[in-house]
Amino acid sequence: MKEIQIVRDTVLNQQYAINDLYRYNLEQNKTYFIVTFGCQMNEHDSEKMMGLLELCGFKKADSEESADVVIFNTCAVRENAELKIYGNIGRIKKIKEKRDVILGLCGCMMQQKHIIEKIKKSYPYVDIIFGTHNYHELPMYINEVLFKKNKIVNLLEDSKAIIEDLPSKRKKGVKAFVNIMQGCNNFCTFCIVPYTRGREKSREYGDIIKEIEELVRSGVKEVTLLGQNVNSYSGGITFAELLEKINEIEGLERIRFMTSHPKDISDEVIDKFGKLEKLCEYLHLPVQSGSNEILKRMNRRYTHEAYLEKINKLKKNVPEMTFSTDIIIGFPGESEADVDKTIELIKEVEYDSAFTFIYSKRVGTPAATFDDDVSDDEKHQRFDRMLNALNDIVIRKNSERVGKVYEVLVEAVDDNTKLATGRSRENHLISFHAQNVSVGDLVDVTIVKAKKFSLEGEMI
Ligand code: SAM
Ligand code: SF4
Repeated sequence: MKEIQIVRDTVLNQQYAINDLYRYNLEQNKTYFIVTFGCQMNEHDSEKMMGLLELCGFKKADSEESADVVIFNTCAVRENAELKIYGNIGRIKKIKEKRDVILGLCGCMMQQKHIIEKIKKSYPYVDIIFGTHNYHELPMYINEVLFKKNKIVNLLEDSKAIIEDLPSKRKKGVKAFVNIMQGCNNFCTFCIVPYTRGREKSREYGDIIKEIEELVRSGVKEVTLLGQNVNSYSGGITFAELLEKINEIEGLERIRFMTSHPKDISDEVIDKFGKLEKLCEYLHLPVQSGSNEILKRMNRRYTHEAYLEKINKLKKNVPEMTFSTDIIIGFPGESEADVDKTIELIKEVEYDSAFTFIYSKRVGTPAATFDDDVSDDEKHQRFDRMLNALNDIVIRKNSERVGKVYEVLVEAVDDNTKLATGRSRENHLISFHAQNVSVGDLVDVTIVKAKKFSLEGEMI
């Protein structure tokens, strides 16, 4: 905590660049478009970049085809996310041939040296490259490219700074993501995140509370606290204490958080479920595998049994609690028996949903050097087997919900069909015919029909 530096004067430090761009945009009316790949962390970084660009007088374009500044905020977690980026950069080249467009690349992919080399060599028309630690300097970079015709490649391997004073352009709605920490110290052997996002650093709890209070004033009813491992939050109080403080915020209705590392979710946090009235009865707890052998080689530092013990404790405290998870199939050295153990765990927990992935080799991670003797065909067959087991459970559990009553936070109401959609505290997606209902209302709904992955209800 001590060595983390909270920075509150970023906008002030770039005032000259912001002013220059603002004056230029008064006459030129230039536009921007940011395309975001990957997780909520990237989404949130993009919201801050949008806030900064609008401070500089740029207006949001309808698409990258018409924008004067195009930024791709990239993801490096799996190979297919990376491949998509190269296709996108290629498309912008055609636009650049017809008119002036500033093309910037940022995010996790740009934290990797071999990627930067490839981009410099194969895509020399990219104007700005920056990483996950310096997106807040975007006005300065655009200023350099626009007025001095310089190209920018600016990367920091890691940073101890938490940038606090950025304007953020959030999608208007009743739900918001709030970052409570950045980076990761866990080094799971398959994962690139600790190399692209650096070491853990937590925001001070006062700043988080202030941000949520402001969000509530703007109409937000539900917040999801974000971090790669929220359990190791250390911004002056523990994560459990932070939950308590947020629970006291007047006007806020619901709290969720992600992600929790199963080895770190403490009894103190587990005990908050069922006790803090705003904390929803839903937890995303990524397991990755049900096989102890694979978990060990993934460096996850828990076992199938220890994971299940935490789930059972939560189920005992709050019987209606629901769970989701992340699962990787096809990790190097995986056997059919390892997949059986994962399916066994899926049946024991009875997840309500899961993000499921086929293992993707990431350059620079320890697992990239492991012998990978599982063929692509085998990986896909195993993946389908696991997914079928998961879907059977999700569909059965949804059908058992007919006749039950859930509190729904309304997220959208279709003007034509008057169909309202929202989520229950347990995170079920529920739709129903609205009568005098607006976005942001909390409505009790009886379930009348179970679809495969959602529910239909009637207002009480
Ligand atoms: N911090 C979170 C945690 O520990 O659960 C997860 C962050 S990661 C960006 C999201 C998910 O991507 C992981 O839980 C994992 O299932 C998946 N993932 C990460 N690296 C992967 C890889 N190399 N191949 C396939 N899936 C991967
Ligand atoms: Fe990646 Fe593991 Fe950190 Fe999650 S906890 S971000 S999976 S290294």
